[in-house]
Amino acid sequence: MGTAFVDRSRCLPWAMDKPCIVCEENCPLSPKAIFTREEFSTVRDGIFTAKEFRGDTIETVENNLKPTKFAGGDYYCAVEGSVRRKIEANSENSLTISADEQFRNLAAKSGKIEVQVRLQRPYVDIERCIGCGICEHECPVSGRKAIRVSAEGETRTANRRLLLER
Ligand code: SF4
Ligand code: SF4
Repeated sequence: MGTAFVDRSRCLPWAMDKPCIVCEENCPLSPKAIFTREEFSTVRDGIFTAKEFRGDTIETVENNLKPTKFAGGDYYCAVEGSVRRKIEANSENSLTISADEQFRNLAAKSGKIEVQVRLQRPYVDIERCIGCGICEHECPVSGRKAIRVSAEGETRTANRRLLLER
């Protein structure tokens, strides 16, 4: 029936750094024709100064965080770029995480913490996609969807195929 293509300029994890995995979840094939690659991206204005640890809560010098904004399960608190713990809750001037000793020590040493969002950016496996269109139908981006099926691969004849080799 064709092949789906991700439009990276409209796809939420690609274009906006917003979590979304709807197309992958809805692809009916097994194994799925959509796979994802995990990436962590520092949110805009997401670097904070750690003032104090109280149990699992880090108090920040800044007090302009939007309460509960990072509590949805997709946000992490990171030190030194890549040591990270999931954020359970946040207030205007604090982040609550499951902080272990290693994390506390690193945060105390650097003084800076980053809020990162976990993204699962989608890719279409051209070997598997049958062009059924369910991903396009379910994509939450309105108007021109961020994943769309084209007629590419509709015919399997050797001189019309997308890839030189399959
Ligand atoms: S459903 Fe749409 S916005 Fe969400 S990951 Fe897939 S292509 Fe991107
Ligand atoms: S068109 Fe169908 S088979 Fe292809 S990626 Fe989308 S849901 Fe999966």
